[in-house]
Amino acid sequence: MLRLARFSFGVGDRFGHQAPAQLRAFQKLLAQGVEVVPVWNKSNREHSFIGSQPESVRAAAEQAVRQANWSLPWHTDADHIRLDTVDRFLSSSDFFTIDVADSIGKPASAEMIHRFLKNHPELFGNLHINGIPESIFLSGDSLEEIASKYLAATQEAGRIYRYIAHKLGEGNFIAEVSMDETDSPQTPQELLVILAALADERIALQTIAPKFTGRFNKGVDYVGDLDRFAKEFRDDLCVLAHAVHRYGLPENLKLSVHSGSDKYSIYPIIRQAILETGAGLHIKTAGTTWLEELIGLAESGDEGTLLVFEIYSIALEQIGALTEPYASVIDIHMSELPSLDDVASWDGTRWANTLRHIPSHPQFNSHVRQLLHVAFKLAAKKGTRYTDLLKSHSEIIGNNVYENLYTRHMKPLFLG
Ligand SMILES: [Zn+2]
Repeated sequence: MLRLARFSFGVGDRFGHQAPAQLRAFQKLLAQGVEVVPVWNKSNREHSFIGSQPESVRAAAEQAVRQANWSLPWHTDADHIRLDTVDRFLSSSDFFTIDVADSIGKPASAEMIHRFLKNHPELFGNLHINGIPESIFLSGDSLEEIASKYLAATQEAGRIYRYIAHKLGEGNFIAEVSMDETDSPQTPQELLVILAALADERIALQTIAPKFTGRFNKGVDYVGDLDRFAKEFRDDLCVLAHAVHRYGLPENLKLSVHSGSDKYSIYPIIRQAILETGAGLHIKTAGTTWLEELIGLAESGDEGTLLVFEIYSIALEQIGALTEPYASVIDIHMSELPSLDDVASWDGTRWANTLRHIPSHPQFNSHVRQLLHVAFKLAAKKGTRYTDLLKSHSEIIGNNVYENLYTRHMKPLFLG
């Protein structure tokens, strides 16, 4: 079976130019004795905004891996696919994030719910789970409620999983199920029921991405109650370990954190939890790398700085359309966005300081950062003008990409 390593880290590379710089961060980590496997993730939505094909993700990764003599495994993730979007990923992905968030809350048939409840008497009543101090209690009513909320989604996950398995062969790909793009977080109790139902669907589940408590806004830090997150994350780890044992799910099953990039304040919590429990981790970032491209371009001088200014000015104009698909995961205050007059005189350093995710820097602006995070399709529209600049300034951009991933993400997560 194609098995995902204990630690894996999802990197997005929207324009397919940064795989070598990203890989350098993994190599540096490996040199410090920590094995983390790179996964290049790109969703159907990102492909459609940019006009790229899934093959390009694999090709860029393959080339970077070959040039760097990368010796550990690596994967390409068909991120957030569904039955209607999976096909074009089949030939170039070995990791599939099966997104069933849209099916949460869809009514499951009475017969399905009845069968689930009948098959799972162990879920009724008081349940002791190793590591969770208080016991979990599920009354018949609450179990039925959870089942009816999630069974249509787990069934849909089974359908998509079996379709991929039919095309690629069971065991030849890594399966993740994601439920993060929905309104309310899943509690550890719900996660337990979901895992039992996914096991019923005979999904060889290696990672699962629940929606966690708190806000995971794009490209900026976590907003929420850190103690609550810590408790929930811990409990989820215990629930996973319990479900592996109880329902025969793959032993390497782990949590996948769809971070929306840059959740600095929960990194120490996650680190502590995986250290103490021995659990694995998959964490996804994506847009953080595209923002480093902008930062590097800004720093590269005249042409690059001008292009960043142009992209910002169009983003301001089209803010409604750009932010609409991400409404639930961004929090931009219009009054905090500098006007075109304000930014007209900005030099590259000013742009870099505004965008670079160092919240303590006096010029850092999380609103500009969030807006440009979701504005990558504007760069795609610039075509070769954008990508030629990426090529001619690959060194300064690559250094920013590497430094960001290694120093601000990997170090706090894996080295402390
Ligand atoms: Zn996600």
